[in-house]
Amino acid sequence: MTRRRSSYRSLRSLQRDVRACRACVEAGFPLESLPVVHGHEGQLAYILGQAPGWVEGEERRPWRGRAGGTLRRWLDMDEDEFYGTFYCASVTRCYPGRSPGGRGDRTPTPREQELCAFWREWELRLLRPGLVVTVGGLAARRLLGLVRLGECVGRRFTYGDAVAIPLPHPSGASGWLNDPANRALVAEAAALVRDELDRLRGAGPLSPSAPSIRRRTGTDT
Ligand code: SF4
Repeated sequence: MTRRRSSYRSLRSLQRDVRACRACVEAGFPLESLPVVHGHEGQLAYILGQAPGWVEGEERRPWRGRAGGTLRRWLDMDEDEFYGTFYCASVTRCYPGRSPGGRGDRTPTPREQELCAFWREWELRLLRPGLVVTVGGLAARRLLGLVRLGECVGRRFTYGDAVAIPLPHPSGASGWLNDPANRALVAEAAALVRDELDRLRGAGPLSPSAPSIRRRTGTDT
């Protein structure tokens, strides 16, 4: 049974309700896993993907499949550093199943994305991360309003008080990564993430040149 409070004062109570959420199932959507939740207070950064895959849904841990390995290779991180650094979230938190066409996983519908935005908004309010990394076009669109991923990978933005850095999805399903010029942009974006993490650890000043994105509050649109 889905429970959503009018406000949350602790991440612990929020995560307890996220783990029990069945809002999309109650709305008639065919989800194939329970919610995947991973993270704790005090982490340096918040990473937002699209949705868990089959492996993640089975293990109820994010970024466990091949795409997760590629993402960690881009960021030059082993598993311990990755999971210790990032609070891992996604536009929707349950495995949506295979796409009806049979190629890849189903993209969550706009209604599912809206239902799940509630949890993201509360996480961001409670965590107030210094760095937000979006992974894939859907996450960049939903959180940052960035429509053309090819024009923003390799650049840094702001989201409220946080620095925001978009990455493409490491699954490579779109073919965007086949272009060597795009792979160079990914390397630039990954370097930006590492630089920002160093800054957050106290290693350097924030560059003032990042375009600003208005922070959204309440229900995502
Ligand atoms: S995708 Fe999000 S809103 Fe939908 S059931 Fe899972 S946790 Fe709840």
